[in-house]
Amino acid sequence: HAKRQGKNNFQIYGSYVRGMTNGNLKLETLMHKALEQQELLLLYQPQMDAKTNTIYGVEGLIRWNNDELGMVSPQEFIPVAEETGLIVPIGEWVIRTACKQNKEWQQKGLSPIVVSVNLSIRQFYQSDLIEKIDAILKETQLDPCFLELEITESMAMHADTAIVILTELKKLGVKIAIDDFGTGYSSLNYLKRFPIDHLKVDRSFVKDIQVDDDRDIITTIIALGHNLKMKVIAEGVETKEQVAFLKKAKCDILQGYYYSKPLDSKMIEEMLLHQS
Ligand code: C2E
Ligand code: MG
Ligand code: MG
Ligand code: MG
Repeated sequence: HAKRQGKNNFQIYGSYVRGMTNGNLKLETLMHKALEQQELLLLYQPQMDAKTNTIYGVEGLIRWNNDELGMVSPQEFIPVAEETGLIVPIGEWVIRTACKQNKEWQQKGLSPIVVSVNLSIRQFYQSDLIEKIDAILKETQLDPCFLELEITESMAMHADTAIVILTELKKLGVKIAIDDFGTGYSSLNYLKRFPIDHLKVDRSFVKDIQVDDDRDIITTIIALGHNLKMKVIAEGVETKEQVAFLKKAKCDILQGYYYSKPLDSKMIEEMLLHQS
């Protein structure tokens, strides 16, 4: 049954595979080699402090560059990686790469920023997640307060287990963000019990900021976050009107094409150099 569901998922995401026979298998085979052949890369999108207009942090976003397929979007291959279990080593690579890179920026004397990474559901419920992250932090010697982990609302659906995992992660000293907030299942009761640092307002709410109802939703989410002692991040910020509204609404951190697309590490370094 799970396999069937996975296939359906894949058909939704894997647009280009529709024309292939056995597309799933093919993608799987190619993905197995992606890690060892160094076809994966991590880009970083700046997150701006709304008050100071300086870089608060960057979100690591994975890319897969394959000879045969070209650039494959994470929305296409992450679901397949989830299904096959490849997400575990890939996810570990993402965390290690982000931590290593952040430490390198710090060692170059750039002003310290937070790097966030997206966790997939399988990774989040992996029994040795805490040990692995702890080991990576020790190995890279990154101060845990400069690593942030993003999970989505729906990943926290097994609330009691999720609270245990999040509490353990917080003990390591890392930060936690709820991604795509407002789009999934959410219980305010659990939200209150979760040790969360940041709420990321989903792009869909930011997109329609000219619509009164959506403004109300954003204003409400910001108030909710602040009441729960969280900072609020808006994602998908594209226009100066959105920036103006979000600043006025006291949104703490802004992320989106208005400021920058995801960039390679060199370009982030340039940006950091110019602001210090
Ligand atoms: P997300 O975590 O919600 O990431 C935000 C997505 O919105 C990114 O797409 C980013 O490039 C895009 N974006 C940023 N600013 C704007 C904007 O102003 N306008 C628009 N239209 N889009 C914007 P991307 O990089 O294609 O990633 C898509 C999703 O794939 C991510 O959504 C995340 O769920 C997943 N993903 C990416 N990297 C990883 C990873 O390393 N591990 C896992 N498990 N998932 C990942
Ligand atoms: Mg994210
Ligand atoms: Mg998001
Ligand atoms: Mg999103």
